[in-house]
Amino acid sequence: MADQNALSRLPKIDQVLAQAALAEALDQLPRALVLRAARQSVDQLRRDIIHGAAPPEAELSAQAVAARAADLARQMARPSLRGLINATGVVVHTNLGRSVLAEQAIARIVATNGSYSNLEYNLEGGRRGSRYEHVAGVLREITGAEAALVVNNNAAAVFLALQSLAAGREVIVSRGQLVEIGGSFRIPDVMARSGAILREVGATNKTHIHDYERAISDQTALLLKVHTSNFAVVGFHQEVALPELVALGRKRGLPVMDDLGSGCFVDLAAFGLPREPTVQDALAMGADLVAFSGDKLLGGPQAGILLGRADLIGLLRQNPINRALRIDKLTLAALEATLELYRDPQKAIEQIPTLRMLSTPYDELATRAAALLRKLRALKLPRLAVRGLRGTSLVGGGALPLAAPDSRLLEVAIEGRSATALEAALRAWRKPIICRLDDGRLLMDMRTILPADWAEIIAACKALAA
Ligand SMILES: *Cc1c(COP(=O)(O)O)cnc(C)c1O
Repeated sequence: MADQNALSRLPKIDQVLAQAALAEALDQLPRALVLRAARQSVDQLRRDIIHGAAPPEAELSAQAVAARAADLARQMARPSLRGLINATGVVVHTNLGRSVLAEQAIARIVATNGSYSNLEYNLEGGRRGSRYEHVAGVLREITGAEAALVVNNNAAAVFLALQSLAAGREVIVSRGQLVEIGGSFRIPDVMARSGAILREVGATNKTHIHDYERAISDQTALLLKVHTSNFAVVGFHQEVALPELVALGRKRGLPVMDDLGSGCFVDLAAFGLPREPTVQDALAMGADLVAFSGDKLLGGPQAGILLGRADLIGLLRQNPINRALRIDKLTLAALEATLELYRDPQKAIEQIPTLRMLSTPYDELATRAAALLRKLRALKLPRLAVRGLRGTSLVGGGALPLAAPDSRLLEVAIEGRSATALEAALRAWRKPIICRLDDGRLLMDMRTILPADWAEIIAACKALAA
């Protein structure tokens, strides 16, 4: 039931805009945006009144509406894609942007994108060049691969390879490797769209070399191995190792491709994580083509990297679809700078945040936790209770699903707020702080918290517990 009296008291837009509460917003933000916020604020009140939920008299004043509109305008002006604090302990968190770029990668984006660049220009010859040459050299140098090609992401890399090498023909894959990676990337579906025909062999838990052997026919174009990424089969389980598959491929004149998923250039066993074959291992074992992501364990920007035989890479590169999957110049800049760091593996571990986080030992995390706890306790806020406890982190990015490196966690509690409410409040903080909820407790994992994040965490706790 509309309250005509309340409707007639709604302020006019001009009145709202003239309020002091909007002066700052009008000064700092585009006028059109503030106007839209003022209109929306009045419209919302009108709808409330029409629906019989008339707000209290005080909320209908021009001043009160202007204050609402100022908040709304700031909200509308805020970028949608924003930086945040990952306190979840999932290092390669796909929802949170996967990998934090190394300083060198950020600097390279800045250095090459505020001006024209030699993206597709050969400086020596003064003629047209190729964007693919910029990282091919350093990739060959680090991995020993014969040739390299980079595309938009690994999904694109796998699609391009299947489309180029196997359209209209068969690709043999183990039933234990027909994975869904998330974000609807499923090997059978990608295969279907590429025009290649999936020839499944083996059982979910066991595939033998003779399964592949028997499936080979004159229709076969490729033997494909897929990293099972985000899941693990335990118990009665067997897959064919890459060297065995390569030997079969050689014997029958068929190329072998390994979709490594995450792909890594350094041996993670050195950090106490399960041993994963590196990209170099896969190439040394004779894979004709390998594909992997740039932003998973590699710690670079989103990209799909293909390495292997020059003749196969050549076919992929010349495929007209490659143009639709091509890498952009911001990515290329960040990728080249990241790859350069791998020339010295120790430097890569120290300077690439993903590797640095994964390699941080428990004792170091405990020392950091103690220091952050001291700062939080020094706030002397009676409602804030913090303590350190032992827990585990996750690698994420569909890599090493069973690995759970020891970590130091902070449990944060604020009197009068449930853990769920605190989690939401930290998520709504000006620099959002994404935490873990576990059994009614709010936890922050020191492994993924950057030193630069501390000040915001302290400020948020201070504001929320005041
Ligand atoms: C992650 C992954 C992909 C997709 O890679 P994106 O870079 O996310 O496109 C493909 N295959 C495997 C095995 C993966 O783990």
